[in-house]
Amino acid sequence: MKKELLLIGGGHAHMVTLAQLDTFINKGFGVTVIQPSEYHYYSGMGPGMLGGTYHPDEIRFATRKLVESKGGRFVLGKAKRIDPDKQQVHLEGESAPLSYDVLSCNAGSYVPRSIIAGTGEQVFTAKPIEDLLAARQRILLEAAKATITIAIVGSGPSSIEIAGNIHQLCSQEGIYMPRIQIFAGKQLLAGRPGRAQYLARKLLSRKGVEILEQGYVKQIESGNILLENGEQYQADLLFPSIGVRPSSLFADSDLPIGPDGGLRVNRCLQSVAHGNIFGGGDCIYFEEGPLDKVGVYAVRQNPVLYHNLLAALENRQFEVFQPGGSYLLIYNLGDGEGIFSKWGLTFSGKLAFYLKDIIDRKFIERFQNA
Ligand SMILES: Cc1cc2nc3c(=O)[nH]c(=O)nc-3n(C[C@H](O)[C@H](O)[C@H](O)COP(=O)(O)OP(=O)(O)OC[C@H]3O[C@@H](n4cnc5c(N)ncnc54)[C@H](O)[C@@H]3O)c2cc1C
Repeated sequence: MKKELLLIGGGHAHMVTLAQLDTFINKGFGVTVIQPSEYHYYSGMGPGMLGGTYHPDEIRFATRKLVESKGGRFVLGKAKRIDPDKQQVHLEGESAPLSYDVLSCNAGSYVPRSIIAGTGEQVFTAKPIEDLLAARQRILLEAAKATITIAIVGSGPSSIEIAGNIHQLCSQEGIYMPRIQIFAGKQLLAGRPGRAQYLARKLLSRKGVEILEQGYVKQIESGNILLENGEQYQADLLFPSIGVRPSSLFADSDLPIGPDGGLRVNRCLQSVAHGNIFGGGDCIYFEEGPLDKVGVYAVRQNPVLYHNLLAALENRQFEVFQPGGSYLLIYNLGDGEGIFSKWGLTFSGKLAFYLKDIIDRKFIERFQNA
């Protein structure tokens, strides 16, 4: 009977495997890909889609089309639980599980909703990236009528990118400019280079974005923002952008996980307990040394995952993943401006965004045309 490779999620770490799916098929293996959407969105360009720089088609990969064109099977669904003993994956709302000989997980991460109470119908999280499209439509609707208040909760890169791109959206569309507030805890871009903090503050202040740094948000409920120090604020739309957590799939499956809940993997990106389960991207905990939740690592893991999945099916030797040195950071602050940071060099302006745009477009075009 032919061996089956099962992929959970067509995320950033599975790009090379998906682009070369025909290699597996031509060798006589069956390949199935499970994903809750027919598309996978490239997060690096998500805020740009919110701001209107990119159309959704420009920032997404047509996963189903790619998989089927290479001879694989695409299953629209969400993996709910992995049974490593029976070598099966159960899907949400489906009774029949999918079987595998080798499994690879690239199920990404989510923004925790622990501070959100109530229905949260004014709330838009930065992940999944598709939510930024819904947010864009809502802003266009509300800000066409009146000056609204938009609160972004979080102090990291996605907060500043969302704030800057809301500004771009409203100024380009000629609608009422919202009052944009970032609830940045104790410090904007905490833990990032001092010059990046300074430049972000400068660029955002120029756009009229207010940066509040008097404490962390304790709860969001129906447009009410409660800080830990008891202060309260009101907003019409809210964007919690408080970091991400790996998919809960592994904890729910009783697989070995790291302190963050990510699938605990060894140097070969292989589960420490099950030699036929692999993973990459935001959903793993890399035992050698935890990795930042940035797409750069997912992208770097691609060739190793591709090699090791084939090796596992053919009983060959695995390759080791080397995370590599520091990585380039470019933030998209909207209005064609960015902040560049690498090699001790940090600068802002049009050139920074221009470079990001070129790099991102090159990456996406490579895999959109695979
Ligand atoms: C607004 C924003 C901007 C960012 N910008 C950058 C940047 O410029 N550069 C950078 O390096 N990083 C950036 N990041 C970080 C980056 O998003 C992540 O590190 C990256 O998305 C990780 O890729 P991934 O493939 O592991 O996960 P994801 O991109 O989350 O992809 C996971 C895939 O798995 C699917 N999936 C999820 N759950 C299941 C399930 N249960 N079953 C089946 N399929 C499932 C999803 O639909 C998705 O297609 C940004 C993050 C955000 C939020």
